[in-house]
Amino acid sequence: MERKQMVEELSGIVGKENVLSSETDLMLYGYDASLFKAKPDCIVLPGSTEEVSGIVKWAHQNGIHIVARGSGTNLSGGTIPARGGVVIHFSRMNRILEIDIENQRAVVEPGLFTLALKNQLARYGYVYQPDPASERVSTFGGNFGENSGGPHCLKYGVTTNHILGAEFVLSNGEVIRVGGKAPDSPGYDLTGLLVGSEGTLGIATKLILRIMPKPEAVKTLLAIYNTLEDAGKTVSAIIADGIVPATLEMLDKLTIKAVEESIHAGFPLDAEAVLLIELDGLRDGMERLADRIMEICRKNQAREVKAAKTEAERMQLWAGRKGAFGAIARLRPNYLVCDGTVPRTKLPEVLTRVMEVGKKYDLAIANVFHAGDGNLHPLILFDERNEEELRKVHLAGSEILKICAEAGGTISGEHGIGTEKMKEMFFVFTPQDISAMKKVKRAFDPEDIYNPGKIFPEIQE
Ligand SMILES: Cc1cc2nc3c(=O)[nH]c(=O)nc-3n(C[C@H](O)[C@H](O)[C@H](O)COP(=O)(O)OP(=O)(O)OC[C@H]3O[C@@H](n4cnc5c(N)ncnc54)[C@H](O)[C@@H]3O)c2cc1C
Repeated sequence: MERKQMVEELSGIVGKENVLSSETDLMLYGYDASLFKAKPDCIVLPGSTEEVSGIVKWAHQNGIHIVARGSGTNLSGGTIPARGGVVIHFSRMNRILEIDIENQRAVVEPGLFTLALKNQLARYGYVYQPDPASERVSTFGGNFGENSGGPHCLKYGVTTNHILGAEFVLSNGEVIRVGGKAPDSPGYDLTGLLVGSEGTLGIATKLILRIMPKPEAVKTLLAIYNTLEDAGKTVSAIIADGIVPATLEMLDKLTIKAVEESIHAGFPLDAEAVLLIELDGLRDGMERLADRIMEICRKNQAREVKAAKTEAERMQLWAGRKGAFGAIARLRPNYLVCDGTVPRTKLPEVLTRVMEVGKKYDLAIANVFHAGDGNLHPLILFDERNEEELRKVHLAGSEILKICAEAGGTISGEHGIGTEKMKEMFFVFTPQDISAMKKVKRAFDPEDIYNPGKIFPEIQE
């Protein structure tokens, strides 16, 4: 269909002012936080479930692809319109529909920023636990699409543990409801299936979330190391001791340099690695637990362990961690974020191998990651204008994921597969495994309307 006709017909559903199609718009919606680019045919901004359903019915009738988009901060090409079509952007569907303190639930629209809900919940002394470092701008639709993680997911679990139900638009435009406010819906766990489906099975238009009372007390520790290996060993030692902190994050030397140059979080520039460890829960017993963690850190050669003395100091340390990706962007024009997971006992060995990959390809690698989950984020720095360097970055990224898979881990902890890691799916899945997943895709979306060209590599079926 001609773009002009598309725009006219979509304007009939959502109003002319909510359809974008200028060359600038197509360029702006043609990239996300990954390295990939492809332009859509147009962009539409619905204001209600009915409008989303109308758009999808229209797309289904006309065989036009649809890509759902929150803020486009995903790191795997999840919102790139790989085969053109219409991008549905949820910026107008960004309301908190309900905060139900008695039942510890919230109902939100997909375009709401993650932190915006948290700010409202704080007034009630409540919290939504998953905390992607991008939470200031990431949306609940995107968190749903990627099954996002974050520092607190070590103790509390990732997004799928906090989304209890959804209103969902199928590929023919029909609207269904999965899960609900009550736990343990009978029948298939469709909510569990849809969370993390990267916009390939349909579109969430409402989400029912688990919210929790804010922990009574918090204590934040910074452990400083002369080797990455010792920091890695400490992570396993803490968990093996039976302690599950709320967060257990690691930053390496290059990350510390970048953070200190821009954010001044208070990380020592001469350290090879730091661990940011946070305890939360009841005040009673917390000091004892913190002392025990400090003892474990020292036993594993931490050269210093200190506790944040004030809330301001704590916030400063977290600003350093949460701003680390942005800070690293100052070092080189581009970076590729790898996202592999390994059993945490393998962290020291895998980190050493990751740094060897950097040396092999002559690429600088910074590490900042959810160490407690064994979820690595090697950031490979480069300049995309240098084609040879770009080629090496892709090879190095793939090699790092292979190392994770060989160590008994997997190729994504939280950033999804998108267009970025399709061929790496073979590192962890057989063609039969992939075929089973594709059957699910076909059951939900037989015409491949939703986000085509994602997740699945070509296989013979
Ligand atoms: C600096 C930085 C830090 C980050 N830190 C973390 C982190 O700590 N943890 C983490 O997990 N991720 C992190 N990310 C990745 C990213 O922010 C998350 O994946 C986030 O959840 C994406 O939200 P978004 O609104 O940008 O979604 P988008 O990028 O717009 O979309 C993500 C996926 O969800 C799908 N989608 C969007 N809306 C819907 C909907 N309504 N229904 C169905 N599918 C939908 C899209 O099609 C796409 O496949 C980080 C990214 C950056 C740039």
